[in-house]
Amino acid sequence: MGEINPRDKLSSEDYLYLYWFEKFTDGVEIEYENFQPTESMINRFNAYIQEWNKRFASDRIHYEKPVDWDVNRQKTGYFKDKLQVGHEFEIWVEEQFMAEGIELKNYLDEKGQYTGENEFGLEIKHDTKLAETGNLYIEYEERLKRENKWVRSGILKDDNTKYWIIGSFDEYYLFNKSDLCNIYAKLLKTPHGYPGCRFVREKGNGTSKGFIINRDIASSICISNTINDFINKISKKYFANGYYYHGKRSCKYIVNKSDDSITIFDDENEAKQAGYKKCTADDCFSENEKNG
Ligand SMILES: [Zn+2]
Repeated sequence: MGEINPRDKLSSEDYLYLYWFEKFTDGVEIEYENFQPTESMINRFNAYIQEWNKRFASDRIHYEKPVDWDVNRQKTGYFKDKLQVGHEFEIWVEEQFMAEGIELKNYLDEKGQYTGENEFGLEIKHDTKLAETGNLYIEYEERLKRENKWVRSGILKDDNTKYWIIGSFDEYYLFNKSDLCNIYAKLLKTPHGYPGCRFVREKGNGTSKGFIINRDIASSICISNTINDFINKISKKYFANGYYYHGKRSCKYIVNKSDDSITIFDDENEAKQAGYKKCTADDCFSENEKNG
């Protein structure tokens, strides 16, 4: 719904919105028979929408609300708070990426509702227990009710997810999804074979299976614990020429080479596998300069 042009033929919905608007702003009970739209009323209505949109855009964290899909869950106050805080975390993450020039591009489901997944391939999980327990919970199977069958979820869901962010506003970690899948595979083989990680069964509703990773392991295997640094790392390129690969195009050994003579790699290991050696110039891999 957009603004209404008072000189156009109004649609049935336009009449409904104006009628509601009048009841809402006047605070009096008007029957539809006695309702008379006027140009000034339409102008007030349009101004109201503009103001609403402006406030909304400037503070999405508070204005956007998660839609409760009315599935058969316990609608406790706790659950609702959790849904809201989780949603706020998602919006916050999106905005942090946006501030770095990256749009996650959310997918919507058939009904046009937010699905929590995006074109970028980042899964966003809010974990409230980290501060209290020092552990992150990584889910791999879920069910809606105790009686239902388990279905793959979380890291075992087959989708475009490449990266995982989990935690809260104060403390979070960004992982390669494949690294989390590796831990899962190791735990399956040897349940106590990965110190700092173990399977747990969520006790409350019996609707989630997962494993935990303690903070030390999280710190050591994550790509980063800040969004800014994560973006720098994943957007880093490697420049190969001759026998060596370089961390920046402006390295003194390749700065004067033509673009045609340089092979670019997104991943340092790929450059190594292709047979290149790491450049030994002092500042070639330092972080304080953007890639040239
Ligand atoms: Zn170099």
